[in-house]
Amino acid sequence: MAYRRVVIKVGTSTLTDETGALDRIYIASLAMQCAAEHRSGADVVLVSSGAIRAGIDQWENYAGQTVPHQMRATMPLKQAMAAIGQPVLMQAYLAAFAAYDLPVAQVLLTREDFGERQRFLHARNTLQQLLKMGVVPVINENDTVAIEEIRFGDNDTLAAMVASLLDADLLILLSDVEGLYEPDERGRYTRLVREVHRLDENIWRMARGSGTRMGTGGMITKLQAAQIATTSGVTMVIAHGRHEGIIHHICRGHGFVGTVFRPLPRKLCHRKRWLAYGLPAAGTIIVNEGARERIVNDGKSLLPAGVLSCEGHFLPQQVVEVRDEKGFVFARGFTNYSSEELSRIAGCQTSQIEQRLGFKRADEVIHRDNLVLVYGAWV
Ligand code: GLU
Repeated sequence: MAYRRVVIKVGTSTLTDETGALDRIYIASLAMQCAAEHRSGADVVLVSSGAIRAGIDQWENYAGQTVPHQMRATMPLKQAMAAIGQPVLMQAYLAAFAAYDLPVAQVLLTREDFGERQRFLHARNTLQQLLKMGVVPVINENDTVAIEEIRFGDNDTLAAMVASLLDADLLILLSDVEGLYEPDERGRYTRLVREVHRLDENIWRMARGSGTRMGTGGMITKLQAAQIATTSGVTMVIAHGRHEGIIHHICRGHGFVGTVFRPLPRKLCHRKRWLAYGLPAAGTIIVNEGARERIVNDGKSLLPAGVLSCEGHFLPQQVVEVRDEKGFVFARGFTNYSSEELSRIAGCQTSQIEQRLGFKRADEVIHRDNLVLVYGAWV
């Protein structure tokens, strides 16, 4: 099957060599593969990590000394290194893609660009314009200005958000692992899972068992990316980035490569995707089993009677996560009541809201139109 629009994410460990320097030979092969897909008519978008690592390498060359490991973990240093490394990264892409007469464009995004409707539309328009012009956008998180609390932190999530934003049909996460592994009889994670149709509890458990050596995104962040992708109609593949012709194999469906996550039959509309993934949650509402069943099975609203407690401090109209008693986050939505108000009406009947609060904003804590199901990690 040929894909129309492909988003390819490359991790730091795939882009750099053992010393931490950018592997320009690898980048040249990446450009060659992207150019081949582009020539065959696909829109190609790259989401590239590696700025921080390239920045450290560049700085070490300037300074003539190594940056100690404990310093590398501090936020201001990472942000400075990203600022140093991003142009180095882009320079490498410019040179590599120029060999195929393909123009590239740097696009740096933050989480807020997906959270605010206007910014979301601006980002989408710009990217679509670039694709129309035959340019390959090279996207990274704008690490230098990203606020720590709401950073994506890993480009797996960012890549999935981009794939969803652009209604891509394929997202490829190139990593230093072959894919998702399941445990064998002896409990060792040796068996590659070829295909995933549903991100159930079992799959999340496998993700906690495996992971990558370097880079910020382990298998959990890859599953979070799969969750965004598969609910947005995007097929996602995790594969080892160093296999020869890997992008071509995946795009042409030459046998099974890595782990493929199939999209759900019905994709969420953009508004619900924005609600599900665009905004960071301000808090959590914990609900009883009855409420969970009514929401998940019958598509009902959340009423105060189903609320057990809440965590965090939130205000009306903010996004909250909805969690069941076992700790599974299964939905998100805009709450009609603040955390403080909820603590007073938790468990009560709708008819008692006014008596307890002195007013009633709505019958529902979260109306079903403002509620979206998500299959989050166990917490
Ligand atoms: N944005 C970071 C960088 O370019 C990488 C984040 C990640 O490892 O996914 O260095």
